Amino acid sequence: MEPYTLPPLPYAYNALEPHYDEQTVKLHHDMHHAAYVKGLNTALEKLEQARVSDDFALVKHWEREVAFHGSGHLLHSIFWTNMKPKGGGEPQGELLKAITGSFGSYAAFKKQIVAAANAVEGSGWAVLAWNTEMNSLNVYQAEKHQDLTIWGAIPVLVIDVWEHAYYLKYQNKRPDWVNAFFNIVNWDDVEKRLQKAKSCR
Ligand code: MN
Repeated sequence: MEPYTLPPLPYAYNALEPHYDEQTVKLHHDMHHAAYVKGLNTALEKLEQARVSDDFALVKHWEREVAFHGSGHLLHSIFWTNMKPKGGGEPQGELLKAITGSFGSYAAFKKQIVAAANAVEGSGWAVLAWNTEMNSLNVYQAEKHQDLTIWGAIPVLVIDVWEHAYYLKYQNKRPDWVNAFFNIVNWDDVEKRLQKAKSCR
């Protein structure tokens, strides 16, 4: 099995300034995201060794590690492409239609996801996801990377509210970071992800 690798940032470290600072982006991508990739590969290796040696004594530990690091890798991979220089504005076309259909209006959706992001207890994420089982677009919270999530959900827009995502620039003002995120959000990427998610059935 090929190990997972850290996907390169789709823009320069300083490309999201002034909303997202170069130092945070660099540390966040090169150190934090890289650590989740490494943690995922380690856990998968350990599970492979367990199968080879037929010793599953630590299976609970390594399955938990897969959930944590695997979700961390997946969410960060989406997060980087969910942003772009000169992003922002409002969603258009099919994405806007889907958001309006599920939340009533873009304004109501934005209020909900911002409130969810600001209210995450401890470290986590606010997530807009297409749920293939419920056939609807929903906002979820994730604590850490993997808790409070729901089966069937395919994330299309994710907002990282771990302190490592914003503390250097925004300190304890998480709502300021969440507001800033909407100046760099890449709605084209969100729409592309929604189309793909809707075809997963
Ligand atoms: Mn993060």
